[in-house]
Amino acid sequence: MPQIYRFECNHCGLRLATGWGGFMYVLDAIGQRVVCPHPLEPFIMADVLGDAKPRERKKRIGFMSHCACRSCAAKLLFDVQRDELICHNCESTNIAEVRQMVGETCPKCGEGKIKCIDTGMIS
Ligand SMILES: [Zn+2]
Ligand SMILES: [Zn+2]
Repeated sequence: MPQIYRFECNHCGLRLATGWGGFMYVLDAIGQRVVCPHPLEPFIMADVLGDAKPRERKKRIGFMSHCACRSCAAKLLFDVQRDELICHNCESTNIAEVRQMVGETCPKCGEGKIKCIDTGMIS
């Protein structure tokens, strides 16, 4: 069971994400991403994939990561394996996964640092 973290600035309180970095998704028959919230992943996948072949299943399962734009501090979601990492807000390509930004200077206030705070909760 993954632990829940909060990723936030210790100065301005900007919260980039809560969770453990992202979530699973599965592509439905028309290629739309269906979010699989924990702990329901196996049920939703079985439901969406139906009787798809094992090889096809693998292609249709992905992981969306909580990302943030280092230029404008927008909160973004990307499958970093598959998506082009461009900010929807300012079109910057200076995008990082939130977990990689821990310890970096806050993109919003430029003064604080991004911290990973253990909420003490377990999902
Ligand atoms: Zn800040
Ligand atoms: Zn941006």
